[in-house]
Amino acid sequence: MCYTEAGFSENREFGPQGERSGASMFNIFRRFAGRFSRDMGIDLGTANTLVHVQGRGILLREPSVVAIDRNTGKVLQVGEEAKRMLGRTPGSIIAIRPLKDGVIADFDQTERMLRYFIEKVHRRKGFVHPQVVVGIPSGITEVECMAVIEATKKAGAKEAFLIDEPRAAAIGAGLPVTEPIGTMIVDIGGGTSEVAVISLGDIVASRSIRVAGDEIDEAIVGYIRLVYNLLIGTRTAEECKLTMGSAYPMEQEITMELRGRDLISGLPRAAMVSSVEIREAISDPINQIVACVKETLEDTPPELAADIIDRGIVLAGGGALLRGLDRLISRETMMPVHIAPDPLSCVVIGTGKCLDSLQANSALRHVLLNEAKLGRYGGSGSRQGQP
Ligand code: ADP
Ligand code: MG
Repeated sequence: MCYTEAGFSENREFGPQGERSGASMFNIFRRFAGRFSRDMGIDLGTANTLVHVQGRGILLREPSVVAIDRNTGKVLQVGEEAKRMLGRTPGSIIAIRPLKDGVIADFDQTERMLRYFIEKVHRRKGFVHPQVVVGIPSGITEVECMAVIEATKKAGAKEAFLIDEPRAAAIGAGLPVTEPIGTMIVDIGGGTSEVAVISLGDIVASRSIRVAGDEIDEAIVGYIRLVYNLLIGTRTAEECKLTMGSAYPMEQEITMELRGRDLISGLPRAAMVSSVEIREAISDPINQIVACVKETLEDTPPELAADIIDRGIVLAGGGALLRGLDRLISRETMMPVHIAPDPLSCVVIGTGKCLDSLQANSALRHVLLNEAKLGRYGGSGSRQGQP
């Protein structure tokens, strides 16, 4: 039931790096030009930000975390270093995740973080004001969209375009999004799980819930507190999820030691916990994600549903890597389920392909939002995709 290249090979125009379309003069020119251009695709995720530079690949992959001085408001660390501070900061420092729930909770910090990441890649030689495509959570408002465009421009972009993450993920996974074929993508990130059925470049049916990796971590914290009277941090819970989290019985169940603070004595303590218990602990958020997939399938027009039966559901985002989640979704929906190749990078790869299409003037460019298009929608505060 695993992903096969053949499964997505109909996507001639946007096959990986466009290579399959043959070495046309255009491709040769584009590769040559790519050596000089520094156009960027950015995945502004709730958990991780990735930057892809045309012709060079993914140059940055860091947690979307900012550590600031509580008194002065000064940014102390961004990315990996800031994530190490989460839950470990003294009173004077706070480590925050500005996009935690799939909305821009703290715009100033989002802007600072974006600038920091762009400039980090930017420092490399040969930078000329680039075109930038940013993948954003589909729940952010049009006002926030304008703000992301502005922040991207302030950070040095000549022009900024936006694309919602489910579409970027589908493009990055090599799905034929611009063709009249129904494809279903399930992007399970840190703050949000987004399910979308796409055909002819548009989202035909979709759902977005604020239940994803973070909720799974919190479910582990809650379970360990309840059953073991032990308070563990969310970073420990995430490690536990990565080491032994599962959504479906494993061939070999495992155990792991979790350390935290005893709620009764107040002292540090460890407990041995099994993967069977962790599966039970996270069943609630997992079931919510599965329900979200089922509801979206129920909204899907029959012709497109038939395509999904043929082609299967594609999982992307870090959550796609949870052991057995593909099997569980397949059992519950009775559909084939594939994990996208490199699920953590799908969105950023998709933004890179969108940049190619901007230059090639292809059908894909119509899925991008820019200032002009946002202005036409009135720049109201309504959530994207929700009229
Ligand atoms: P976002 O797009 O919101 O930034 P990502 O797609 O980068 O999110 O995914 C991050 C989430 O995926 C985190 O909650 C992380 O714990 C989870 N994750 C990463 N790898 C795994 C794995 N192997 N198993 C389960 N969850 C994972
Ligand atoms: Mg994402």
